[in-house]
Amino acid sequence: MENPDRVRLASVELRKAGYQFREPETASLDAIRAVHGKEHIDRVMLSGHFEAASLAAGGALAAAELAMQDEPAFALVRPPGHHAAANRAWGMCYFNSMAIAIKNIRPRAKRALIIDIDLHFGDGTVSIFRGDQNVKIVNPWSVDENFEYLDMDESRYLRQVETAFQDFDYDIVGVSAGFDTYLEDWGKLLKKEDYYKIGKAIREGAKKCGGHRFAVLEGGYHPDLLWCIKSFIEGFE
Ligand SMILES: [Zn+2]
Repeated sequence: MENPDRVRLASVELRKAGYQFREPETASLDAIRAVHGKEHIDRVMLSGHFEAASLAAGGALAAAELAMQDEPAFALVRPPGHHAAANRAWGMCYFNSMAIAIKNIRPRAKRALIIDIDLHFGDGTVSIFRGDQNVKIVNPWSVDENFEYLDMDESRYLRQVETAFQDFDYDIVGVSAGFDTYLEDWGKLLKKEDYYKIGKAIREGAKKCGGHRFAVLEGGYHPDLLWCIKSFIEGFE
């Protein structure tokens, strides 16, 4: 389940490993309005999740800013955001942190490639950028016109991540980093070391845009989450 230990335990472990942490500021109302409508923002305020959701969005935006300063960054935030659409919250997502980061970093990074490795299709992000020629979104496994996902394995998954970088020019790579595709989580597919390979493939792919890359935590609910995150970061950094 979604709970504070998801990020708390990961932060303890990552600090131990020597990673630098930066406390984000909450995203400003203007930054949130770049994605979400007034009524939606009002509803989130009434729901009592505004503080946490705007802080998560602020973390994603800070990570995108670091990425543009040639510093790969991982936003260790909750709640997740990729199901949140412009005017709709669902699936524990209130504000779409990835979309808020990408829209607000636009003056410096016009074209974005978003790779959503969460088990669940990032429908909110897709709906927000529908028709936007400057944003390409790839959801490995969840979409495949050949229904190849029916017999998905780790190497096919990795290939989908690698091919995400083809046929599109981008200035920044954002990763909606959910870890519920993990072997012991709902997805029952990827091992810890597969997250290292995915992180590394994204680091390689981001070379085409000067290495500008950042990731935002989405789902992932198994107690091994911290190890999956650490493995990803080791490949991604
Ligand atoms: Zn998920």
